[in-house]
Amino acid sequence: MQGWRKSFQIKLCQHQQSCPKIITRKEWGALKPKARTPLSTPVKYAVIHHSDTPKCHSKMKCIERVRSIQEYHMHHNHWSDIGYNFLIGSDGNVYEGRGSDTVGAHTKFYNSQSIGICVIGNYSSSRPNWPSLIALKRLLSCLKNNKKLKNDYSLKGHRDLSPTKCPGKYLYNNITHWPHYKY
Ligand SMILES: [Zn+2]
Repeated sequence: MQGWRKSFQIKLCQHQQSCPKIITRKEWGALKPKARTPLSTPVKYAVIHHSDTPKCHSKMKCIERVRSIQEYHMHHNHWSDIGYNFLIGSDGNVYEGRGSDTVGAHTKFYNSQSIGICVIGNYSSSRPNWPSLIALKRLLSCLKNNKKLKNDYSLKGHRDLSPTKCPGKYLYNNITHWPHYKY
């Protein structure tokens, strides 16, 4: 095999290992954003949220849920788009929200220096499942490897930055044990 091709394939392979499958906006039938502000990356913070809605355990149910969150953010909150940069279901899939190149609307004062990731469900009353936690870890390392998060980024729960219970005690207690977590 030619050298360049071999190194390209190794690169592709590493990329695939570190990035989870991401369900695109097109795949979940997103509404068009009314406006977008480019996010200057890499950013310093990854902020974890919960949606405070029921969980979803299949791609079909999670798509329904992601659509209803977008609907609520755009038509009730009058935001330009779904607030989160990414969402994760109990089906273990990552759903593209605003993505990693657009400023989100999820954590007051921190949106332009963070990527906001929402795990769908309410984690004040129940524990996140393994597929969603594995997807979250893989998404975080993918964002770091792709220079969307700084190498020494800080992982935060929404409650570390705003007076809120988000992302719920069970999800929060989990992420506080992860390597990048900093209070
Ligand atoms: Zn939150």
